[in-house]
Amino acid sequence: SFTLIQNISSGISILYHNNIFINSIFELFDLKTEETALNSSKAMVESQDLDLELRNVSFTYPHSNKPTLTNIDLKIPAGKIIAIVGLNGAGKSTLIKLLCKLYKPNLGEITLGEVNINELDDADYRNQVSPVFQDFSKYNVSAEDNIRFGNISKPYSEEDIVDASKKSGAHSFVEEFPNQYKTMMGRLFEDGHEVSIGQWQKLAIARALFSSARILIFDEATSALDAVAEKELYDSFRKRISNRSAVIISHRHSAIKHADYIYVLSGGTILQHGTDEELLNMEGDYAKLFKTPNPSI
Ligand code: ADP
Repeated sequence: SFTLIQNISSGISILYHNNIFINSIFELFDLKTEETALNSSKAMVESQDLDLELRNVSFTYPHSNKPTLTNIDLKIPAGKIIAIVGLNGAGKSTLIKLLCKLYKPNLGEITLGEVNINELDDADYRNQVSPVFQDFSKYNVSAEDNIRFGNISKPYSEEDIVDASKKSGAHSFVEEFPNQYKTMMGRLFEDGHEVSIGQWQKLAIARALFSSARILIFDEATSALDAVAEKELYDSFRKRISNRSAVIISHRHSAIKHADYIYVLSGGTILQHGTDEELLNMEGDYAKLFKTPNPSI
């Protein structure tokens, strides 16, 4: 049975299923299969430098008669940051759902290190992909546990937590809390501390950084940060990224322009791709969106 300890606006807070703590959003999707112990899938490849690639991927939602993604070719090379830009409805979130293996392509394939992800164990694969959504989870637990939930089974030291926290920009405000990392987040508890949207976002980002995932996905995850904080985050992230990859989805030029490679999605297809400089020098949607500085994005 499920016990939902709390559920503020955006979704899962602390969720227990048959008294097992549900560690991540993905575990919700695994519940159906958890009884199916035997799994014929391939063990996760251990090598660190794996490219994640969509090859000619098309996808139509069940019960929909119109494809949401058509013939997508996109590569997330190991250790690189790529960005996806597109107006609302372009298909960005759907693409992320496919990358997270929440849906399967109808056509084409998604490969990690040349292996079709359908052949990889779901739980193993999802340990490798850590998404931070705009609609992030807010856990009414301590600051430390908020970050630690990025990988509940990982042995950790305080130093690891502080490190992830510094990189996400959370450290400076957590330090100011009455009990620092032991302070309860949110007003659910009497001794809980008020946390702003931007602070929740930074905790969610620290959680992703703390995880062992090799691919981090930021889906409008930095929208509540100001442009300076956002740039600092991505700068520090680039420095530590080493063999980790990232996918950034943002409407802000400042968030995406430093990506190694950028894809412009429209109506479920990729219209343009290139570096920021290349795309600004091309006629097209990217230049239209970002060439004239627009204070609103
Ligand atoms: P974006 O993230 O770029 O705003 P989405 O991936 O959310 O775009 O949506 C792309 C298209 O897919 C939209 O036309 C949307 O209506 C449709 N769509 C999204 N989710 C579903 C769903 N569960 N079933 C059917 N259509 C969907």
